[in-house]
Amino acid sequence: MTKKAVVIGAGIVGLAMARALAIRGFRVTVLERSGRAVGASVRNFGMVWPIGQPTGKLLERAMRTRSIWISLCEQGKLWYDPCGSLLAVHEQDELDVIHEFTELNRAHRTCEVFDPERAISKCPALCRDKLLGALWSDSEVIVDPRQVLAALPIVLKELYDIQFYFGKCVSHVSHPRVFCGREVFEAEVIVVCSGYDFETLYPEAFASQPITRCKLQMLRTVPQPDSWRMGTACSAGLTLTHYAAFRDCASLAKLQERYKVSHPEYLQYGIHVMASQQGNGEITLGDSHEYGLTFEPFDSDHINQLILNYLDLFLKFPTRRIAQTWHGIYAKMTNGASELILEPESGVLIVNGLGGAGMTLSFGLAEDVVEQYLK
Ligand SMILES: Cc1cc2nc3c(=O)[nH]c(=O)nc-3n(C[C@H](O)[C@H](O)[C@H](O)COP(=O)(O)OP(=O)(O)OC[C@H]3O[C@@H](n4cnc5c(N)ncnc54)[C@H](O)[C@@H]3O)c2cc1C
Repeated sequence: MTKKAVVIGAGIVGLAMARALAIRGFRVTVLERSGRAVGASVRNFGMVWPIGQPTGKLLERAMRTRSIWISLCEQGKLWYDPCGSLLAVHEQDELDVIHEFTELNRAHRTCEVFDPERAISKCPALCRDKLLGALWSDSEVIVDPRQVLAALPIVLKELYDIQFYFGKCVSHVSHPRVFCGREVFEAEVIVVCSGYDFETLYPEAFASQPITRCKLQMLRTVPQPDSWRMGTACSAGLTLTHYAAFRDCASLAKLQERYKVSHPEYLQYGIHVMASQQGNGEITLGDSHEYGLTFEPFDSDHINQLILNYLDLFLKFPTRRIAQTWHGIYAKMTNGASELILEPESGVLIVNGLGGAGMTLSFGLAEDVVEQYLK
């Protein structure tokens, strides 16, 4: 008889778990408390960003996730752009890190250091002034989070007959039952993908784990005029200090020391600046990283200005008019782990804590989780 699974949460982790379970033959129901998913997954850049993942298991998982994204977007006729990325550098210590990175990664990924001319020919938005070069990687893909979070439930229903119920807030889980107030769902397997709000259902598990939350401020421009395209996803020097992929570079320590003096406020707010252009021409910009359990509910204009000031050092668009600002919150492990998988009782799994890499890792992670825990 076909086994049933209930997935709680229709963010990217819940969608990926639902897909992986359905492929393994489960009859899957997804319960999402909101009328549509409005958590971290719809608030991000839509960057599938393998270049940020360290070589080995996580890079392999990111590349698998990338393939699944492309396949789902093709099947669902959703926009995506396999545009790769450029990380622009403007100081010798930044150039040293990207040279070292390409040396270390020669056998593992398609990346190289471009001179300024070549970088600008890929991305006409790059400012020529002070540009020393850029790290080119061909593996990054941009999706539109607003489009894919709305459309994937429809695509997954069509492909795998996954049932989605929106506006169903899960109030309690006790295997094999999932309670939405008085309404009860039953399943052999229950997977909890409730994002940063994990502790509402599992306060003790949350309190006992090395996990915290992170608030990120974001901005979006109006559509660029005349179908102007940025060419690639872009970032610059500060991003080198943000992703685990660069930690193997011995030259990174010197750069980090320099930033403490040259960019103290950027470090204070965890700001590094990235830009991704959506299919409709809008450019998503961010971000800052503030860690804690409770945040100021209001966004800081000062942080947004710091982001835009740094952007001005390396990117110029036809229009920088800002259409929207917002913040998102995700759960992140404090022990360096790439995710949290817990089994609070037999038949129930919690999948959480993907930090800033949920779009990059979820589909691959979900397949690994099903393979490992739910054979
Ligand atoms: C601003 C920002 C930028 C980012 N940029 C990127 C990026 O470019 N690339 C990348 O790889 N990652 C990025 N990330 C990280 C990525 O967005 C997260 O890792 C990912 O979205 C986490 O997905 P999730 O499904 O765990 O959480 P969420 O998307 O928050 O989904 C959790 C869902 O669970 C639902 N839920 C919670 N409790 C219940 C309940 N009791 N009953 C029913 N439903 C419930 C919520 O309503 C929500 O829809 C970014 C994150 C942010 C915030």
